[in-house]
Amino acid sequence: MSEKEYDPVMHSAEHLLNGAIARLLGCGRAFSTHIEKKKSKCDFHYDRNLTPEELQLLEKSVNEQIASHVDVWDERMSVDEAASRYSLSRLPEGATEVRIVHIGEYDACPCIGAHVANTREIPSLRIVSSDWKEGVLRVRFKLNHATPHA
Ligand SMILES: [Zn+2]
Repeated sequence: MSEKEYDPVMHSAEHLLNGAIARLLGCGRAFSTHIEKKKSKCDFHYDRNLTPEELQLLEKSVNEQIASHVDVWDERMSVDEAASRYSLSRLPEGATEVRIVHIGEYDACPCIGAHVANTREIPSLRIVSSDWKEGVLRVRFKLNHATPHA
């Protein structure tokens, strides 16, 4: 996985979506993500597809954080300390220190990628669709980049 090549804006939006899903569903963060500038997807272990109301709720929750212009900040802590608070399943082998990326008080997770400094840099998020198959919930989303008027 080459997290450094992620678009920081889209990747930060992915953090927010993960935070929203973890809050709403309690299913933990995505076990697999595919980030692209135009359209991204996240896969979660879950037991069903989401209703349109739930997708709307997720979208609203993420967009509230974007509209609130929340600071993104990070801190470093020992692996032991981090392990007691966060899921470290994607930690590089041999690491002794972990970087935790926070989005305000809303979301925090270990990450080595590049992020925006404030959520005001993220355009509003739109959930395109979701589907479910064999225990995997897939959520596809886009950012509403401003399009020039014709
Ligand atoms: Zn990140």
